[in-house]
Amino acid sequence: MRRIQSARLTQTFVRVLTFFGILIAVTCNIAVAATTDQLANAGIETAGATGATKAFDWQDYGAGYNRVATHHTGTWGISLKQSSSASSPVGAYQRIDLNQKEKNPVFIGAYLKGTNLINNTNSFLAASVYAEIHLTNGKTVYWNSISNKGTFDWRWIGFNTGTLSGVDAPISYIFIVPILAGTTGTAYFDDFQVVEYKPLTSALTVMIDDGEDSTYTQAKPIMDKYGFVGSSAVIVNYAGQQGYMTWAQVTALSKAGWEIVSHGLNHVDLTTVTAATLKAELSSSLTMLKSKGLTVNNFAIPFGAYNGGVLATGAKYYKSMRLYEQGSNPQGTFPYDVKVRGVLDTTTPEDISAWIKDAQKNKQWIVLTFHSVAASGEDAYHVSPAIFDKMMQTIKASGIQVMTYNSAFDAFKTTPTAASTVFGQ
Ligand SMILES: [Zn+2]
Repeated sequence: MRRIQSARLTQTFVRVLTFFGILIAVTCNIAVAATTDQLANAGIETAGATGATKAFDWQDYGAGYNRVATHHTGTWGISLKQSSSASSPVGAYQRIDLNQKEKNPVFIGAYLKGTNLINNTNSFLAASVYAEIHLTNGKTVYWNSISNKGTFDWRWIGFNTGTLSGVDAPISYIFIVPILAGTTGTAYFDDFQVVEYKPLTSALTVMIDDGEDSTYTQAKPIMDKYGFVGSSAVIVNYAGQQGYMTWAQVTALSKAGWEIVSHGLNHVDLTTVTAATLKAELSSSLTMLKSKGLTVNNFAIPFGAYNGGVLATGAKYYKSMRLYEQGSNPQGTFPYDVKVRGVLDTTTPEDISAWIKDAQKNKQWIVLTFHSVAASGEDAYHVSPAIFDKMMQTIKASGIQVMTYNSAFDAFKTTPTAASTVFGQ
């Protein structure tokens, strides 16, 4: 899970940083002499001057990469190979000058395919897209997409700088680095993307997980008073059981304009199950919800437990995968990395007000996530109806637009629009 990865970040990046020290020294010379660098040869279709084993404008990172016929689109891609996980990271890199005047979110991503990727050292990088982000205030921020392991077909990976609190100033330039670290096997990369978004609006979604009956009996009547509709993440095999909504109630929510989201069949940790169970949790839950006449586009991951395999399998069935990582979502939200503001019994209306002010300032989307709306509960995942009412009042007073998860996702998803700058197309 990502939170664990981030904790390891500082320690592991000392090694990567040292490595990059050399890289920066080399490229700084180019920066002084040349005008701005854009993302070049994003699809690896142009060969480098040194011939077919290199791609135009992609430099070697460490022991480097090869330009190969394995591709996502077009005719060429890049391969990174390691036979010993003890070796230094390998990859390719290029510098992209963003020269931002204001702090706009930037999506950085690529397509990745893996063959026998075995992550022996538990490096959080494994196969990922890594970026070194240089800010106009002189700071440098390091981040990578989720790490990927195993054998898998092409999958879309990436991240948005708008989710990183360290990116607290406009971006001057970045190094984009397809990387393989601490991992044996072969990673293929193709179709790199760097897109800057100019966000226009903020939004808030009220989402209630697990499909408990209080969604219908407590939350809905309160939200009705304020004219809000929400999104309900239903655990398919729990519907109709004691304490959970009946299918009639779920259908009534949907008819009232609420969105129904799949929360799986049985609410299991998807990182611990077999491939067959993973597929069933994702696809059979969708089939079941559809058989009830419901329109379902999105999935909320139980316990927020995910890895590259969970996200990539989910991408086959759903528009987006919602995590339980805390944060707001920038314009250009990566569909398999949607963050939440989780509400617990300790959360106050003032907390929500602060989150909304921040989202309004940065033009971001908040997925405010509740579980039980009840006076008491066995754990911290509940709020009393009175507090829930105050929270809805706070939301109404803020003027932020309240949308279902699906509508807000469509407004914030990673799609270049007229208001975005695509580097290198
Ligand atoms: Zn849940």
